[in-house]
Amino acid sequence: MGKFKGYKMEWFFSFVRWILLCICAALFSVPAIQSFFHLKKDSVFVLFMFSLCCVLIMQYTFLKTTTGRSRIAKFIYPIGVGLDFLVLVWLLMMTGGTNSPFVPMTYLVVMHAAFYWGMPGAIVATTGFVASFIAMLLQKEQPVSIHFLSHIGCLTVVGLFGGFIVSRERKHFYEKMTLKKQLRVDYLTGLYNQRFFHESLRRILHKTEPYTLVLADIDHFKLINDQYGHVIGDLVLKEISKILAECVGREKGKAFRCGGEEFAFLFPGVNHQCAKRVIEAIYNELSRTTFGDKALKVTMSFGVASREIGEKENEWLERADLLLYKAKNMGRNRAIFDDQSILVNAAASKRMDMYNTQTKITS
Ligand code: GH3
Ligand code: MG
Ligand code: MG
Repeated sequence: MGKFKGYKMEWFFSFVRWILLCICAALFSVPAIQSFFHLKKDSVFVLFMFSLCCVLIMQYTFLKTTTGRSRIAKFIYPIGVGLDFLVLVWLLMMTGGTNSPFVPMTYLVVMHAAFYWGMPGAIVATTGFVASFIAMLLQKEQPVSIHFLSHIGCLTVVGLFGGFIVSRERKHFYEKMTLKKQLRVDYLTGLYNQRFFHESLRRILHKTEPYTLVLADIDHFKLINDQYGHVIGDLVLKEISKILAECVGREKGKAFRCGGEEFAFLFPGVNHQCAKRVIEAIYNELSRTTFGDKALKVTMSFGVASREIGEKENEWLERADLLLYKAKNMGRNRAIFDDQSILVNAAASKRMDMYNTQTKITS
């Protein structure tokens, strides 16, 4: 099933539903129209009530789901197309079948079906109407007229054309979304890329609320490349990125790869506790994880700086970078915050030492 795309468009089609209801109301309440179509008031009453219920259900859903993105909207709106189809076929049967003055309304219902399901929807709706027309012809034992054939022809053209346009528009839409995503995402790791990092920083600078920036860097990554090659290096980058995305996402932050083995996280609020939790979680994961079949161990260093009022993008970045630099100089595998507190990954250091001793012994 095609995804729901346009709340505004749905309003247009809801207007069509109101027109159908008005026609049913006129049939029910105006005796002259009833006698023109040779209708019994009771049977029109049932149609009118059914149409009224459909409109009320759909209208209530609209008012409850103001954007059209909720699950109930995605479920109910397409049902509305089916209800319109039923009301219209019923109305046509009562008002002269294929000779009914309301036949052109079938085009709108076909377009509505195409809007939801593209070409398959248009084909099903068109086939449904054509089958109903044929059934009406047979029931009334009417001959196949030019009038009838022209309706069928126009309906098919509208259906196919509508379905084609909707399918094409939808394809363009998905292509556009994919390209937009690719512009923001780093090809190797799947994290947000440097371009989006700077875009996000610029957006934050326009806001008044505080944010916390964490710059992260893998320790001695060059050694991994030199000893095990770039393929293993890339694998480490991918695996570490998964850990970062998971830990940062848990605290509602965004993780970026800023090139090479450097990363950045952005969290809303001046919240060193939140950054601390994330870094601790990353350290825990890193100390538990080994990379590749060489069972490689990796550590990381961090610099954490909350944005100060009036601070420019470069100044903020520079402060976080200096803290990261300090963490490297102090022996790596630690995080330094802008309040000068330090988080040392002591457990991992011990494990790293043990691991290095073991590898030395075995090698
Ligand atoms: P430090 O602890 O001081 O950060 O040392 P380091 O070795 O991690 O830092 P350095 O800046 O000296 O080296 C970074 C290395 O990252 C150099 C480069 O070959 C490697 N690198 C950058 N981008 C990629 C990549 O996409 N894939 C791989 N495999 N390596 C990369
Ligand atoms: Mg590094
Ligand atoms: Mg680096």
